[in-house]
Amino acid sequence: MATRKVAFYGKGGIGKSTTSQNTAAAMAYFFGKKVMIHGCDPKADATRMILGGKPQETVLDLVRKLGEEEITLEQVVKVGFGGIRCVESGGPEPGVGCAGRGIITAINLMEEMGGYPEDLDFLFYDVLGDVVCGGFAMPMREGKAQEIYIVTSGEMMAIYAANNICKGLTKYAMRTGVRLGGLICNSRKVDKEMELMEEFCDRLGTKLVHFVPRDNIVQKAEFNKKTVIEFDPECNQAQEYKKLAENIINNKDLVIPKPLTMDELENLVVKYGIVD
Ligand code: ADP
Ligand code: MG
Repeated sequence: MATRKVAFYGKGGIGKSTTSQNTAAAMAYFFGKKVMIHGCDPKADATRMILGGKPQETVLDLVRKLGEEEITLEQVVKVGFGGIRCVESGGPEPGVGCAGRGIITAINLMEEMGGYPEDLDFLFYDVLGDVVCGGFAMPMREGKAQEIYIVTSGEMMAIYAANNICKGLTKYAMRTGVRLGGLICNSRKVDKEMELMEEFCDRLGTKLVHFVPRDNIVQKAEFNKKTVIEFDPECNQAQEYKKLAENIINNKDLVIPKPLTMDELENLVVKYGIVD
């Protein structure tokens, strides 16, 4: 089986890294999958819980320190919980250079070094999606990621970002074959959040892959520098991530979404009475 290349997109702070790490951990722990996470957020914290809280040296930091020629896989790839391989792109020095460009450099370098093993079941990219500028769109633009999951919630800004990511995706869908696998609602306990999400998915022509509840055990696990799966695999929240992992493993509905216009988006939000 070829590696499924999956990207998790969503606005900053929505829970991409929490969701993708717990999904990866659930895939490895409950389903025996071989997974790798490539963090593409300049924040570089997409793999921290898998690695027990150890901050990871990023590809771009090492490029600056040693130059592209001198970097080795051993320096940038670390293996954590469930045998999950972890790499972080990192970012430019604040105020200098383009973060998007850095993502391109890091992914290309990983490919050149043969950093993504052939026998992986899943390769996850964790990508910031507030702005879908060329750089952040790169994983889908260049066909690096084939299957996109958007992490969102019932809050206006998260929905707005999700819709924008869909707009970006439609631009590259024909050329690269990239498709939307669905939306993941990381609940903010907004009124009628589930109903809103279902209608939003319907209008986009996709589906809600899973509704992940908000639960303090996420913070508790984080405090212990672990994913929920490692911290307490029997708890309710771990079962939610298990379900999400299973839904992604079994997902065959890959679509080109139909993004909403700004008016349609506003009407949708008003209909469910959301005021940010
Ligand atoms: P992103 O990667 O999108 O920037 P994070 O995954 O870092 O966002 O999430 C931000 C914070 O939200 C995390 O520190 C985590 O504690 C919290 N969080 C995310 N998902 C949940 C959840 N389902 N329940 C409770 N807290 C959550
Ligand atoms: Mg993150």
